[in-house]
Amino acid sequence: MTPAPPLDARPVTSLRGVGPALAATLERLGLRTVQDLLFHLPLRYEDRTRVVPIGTLRPGDRAVIEGEIQLAEVVFRRRRALLCRIADGSGSLTLRFFHFSAAQQEMLARGARLRCFGEVRPGPGGLEIVHPEYRRVTPGTASPSDESLTPVYPTTEGVQQGRMRMLTGLALAQLPGGGLRDWVTPDVLGMVGLPSLEAALHHVHRPPPDADIESLNAGRHPAQQRLAFEELLAHQISLRLLRQAADRDDAWPLPPHGDLVARCLARLPFRLTAAQRRAWDEIERDLAREHPMMRLVQGDVGSGKTVVAALAALRAVEQGAQAAVMAPTELLAEQHARNFAGWLEPLGVRVGLLTGRLTSRARSALTQDLASGALQVAVGTHALFQEGVGFARLALAVVDEQHRFGVHQRMQLREKGRAEGRYPHQLVMTATPIPRTLAMTAYADLDVSIIDELPPGRTPVRTVVLPDARRDEVVARIDAACRAGRQAYWVCPLIDESDVVRHQAAEETAAALAVALPHVRIGLVHGRMPGNRKDAVMNAFKETKLDLLVATTVIEVGVDVPNASLMVIENAERMGLAQLHQLRGRVGRGTVESTCVLLYAPPLTPVARERLAVLRDTNDGFVVARRDLELRGPGELLGTRQTGLMQLRVADLVRDADLLPGVQRAADLMLGGPQANIAALLRRWVGEGERFGKV
Ligand code: ADP
Ligand code: MG
Repeated sequence: MTPAPPLDARPVTSLRGVGPALAATLERLGLRTVQDLLFHLPLRYEDRTRVVPIGTLRPGDRAVIEGEIQLAEVVFRRRRALLCRIADGSGSLTLRFFHFSAAQQEMLARGARLRCFGEVRPGPGGLEIVHPEYRRVTPGTASPSDESLTPVYPTTEGVQQGRMRMLTGLALAQLPGGGLRDWVTPDVLGMVGLPSLEAALHHVHRPPPDADIESLNAGRHPAQQRLAFEELLAHQISLRLLRQAADRDDAWPLPPHGDLVARCLARLPFRLTAAQRRAWDEIERDLAREHPMMRLVQGDVGSGKTVVAALAALRAVEQGAQAAVMAPTELLAEQHARNFAGWLEPLGVRVGLLTGRLTSRARSALTQDLASGALQVAVGTHALFQEGVGFARLALAVVDEQHRFGVHQRMQLREKGRAEGRYPHQLVMTATPIPRTLAMTAYADLDVSIIDELPPGRTPVRTVVLPDARRDEVVARIDAACRAGRQAYWVCPLIDESDVVRHQAAEETAAALAVALPHVRIGLVHGRMPGNRKDAVMNAFKETKLDLLVATTVIEVGVDVPNASLMVIENAERMGLAQLHQLRGRVGRGTVESTCVLLYAPPLTPVARERLAVLRDTNDGFVVARRDLELRGPGELLGTRQTGLMQLRVADLVRDADLLPGVQRAADLMLGGPQANIAALLRRWVGEGERFGKV
């Protein structure tokens, strides 16, 4: 009899009850093997083992309550809602339903006794639960409760939570003798004081009823930290290998040659700031070397990173080579192409734009010119690095807004750019300033230049923090701004967890604003719109054919509309500071004084109040980032995973920052150890690990 393959080679279909259809659905979650299931960790845990007195609840609690409905009414405020007041003798709270049938309304009448489960939030009239799970119970009869903490998994359509729990249960049962190796050696584990892999996996999937649910929900339980540690270690090692490889690779050296850079600088309508000059000096030095530059330029929104990249591109052109500039969206690519063309074409340099939207004719003309070298600078989206796009001699690759590009993309870039045994210099630019300790981890393969100064003459954005109740004043402000010929943004962020509700909220807001502001031309963009429609609206806004742009957070990244001087952000208390700061960076790009209004739904928790005050009091992205970390209490899940700084499954750079020194030391140890262990560790966490630096 052949032994069963190890868990990382055992397909999910080897589990009882998993047929091809379910396997296909699981595939959508990236779950192919039994090992994948084991590393598919719960998002959170619920304690349904006991009924909690309403009087003891705090905002943010997820709890089971039981009580009697004392009052039920349908209200019409911004949205139609059914409100039920429920009390249990210790206190009362409101159950709020936006969607309800007549039958439900009947069932949720005064006098009904309910057992509910949901997340407690502060509402206008005290605590409330929006859309609780509920069932009616008969007074006097004890209904049973769950016997262990309930893991809640990330899932997808077609796989219920119950099914997910069953599957992880089956996977856990295969752990003994399953050949799941613990790649973190016992000495390292001892050094950082964390449990073994098997113990950790059992605990995270099936926490006993007495487990510390608060630390589990905060992602701070030692079992979770154990997995986070391993993941961070894998990423650290992969990035260091990437760097080691780059230091061995050859590149086209691009020392100063000719006068293009000097002429470009002389023609600019401004002088570089001292910070831009410093970054440029560092880049210039790297470019002259025979190994590829691996450099990140970190600079706040509006600090002027683009022109620095343009100078670097000119160094490539001076040497008869090419540069590619990659942006995360078509709109940004177009914007960069315009800027680059404005700066470089007067010097006789040809700049082209390559996006997925070109007609096949235009595309083939462009790719021909790229292949022949006639086109010196190519700006585009990831379409730049697709099949069929070849460069005559690519010496520099610039990647803008790097937080959208993870290790994989960096790897790909390296491979794609390779020609004649040489690799392009890499320059990545990000507007997400992060503290040094985190940068050392997230960008372990990169040297970092910082542009910590804004060009002179900018009027700082004035930020005001207002409660929802003063919305009318804000609407009046928009009216005034638009009458004065300026433009405004209205941002509706994540209010609900589902995408559908989010874009509905934006649509409803746009409709309400259209009624309140009949002569203001309003456009709407949200994440569910097809890309070309989104860009059409954004372009109309850019060309001042619209006065007010209502948007979900899609406008966050890099769009430059200097005439926009007012931004309103709803439910600002629910958003991360870094994200708010990025959004705010969309205004204050012209010479008129700009304002950012942060609307919040009271009551604010003390921390939320302080967080909003940070934005009111400073415009400096680095200060915002530092205060953001300081104010991030345990239990807040606004991690770096959300901002996409690194593509992590379990770990969160901010939350797990205290693991980082240990991760560094462990990486040193492992890089000095057997290569086979490293390859296996990377396969588990980073994927395609064997290709990293040819381990
Ligand atoms: P970001 O760093 O956010 O990418 P950009 O490169 O888009 O910023 O620059 C923002 C604006 O500032 C652009 O219009 C750019 O031309 C302008 N700019 C860049 N550097 C300077 C400077 N030294 N002085 C004045 N304006 C500048
Ligand atoms: Mg930019």
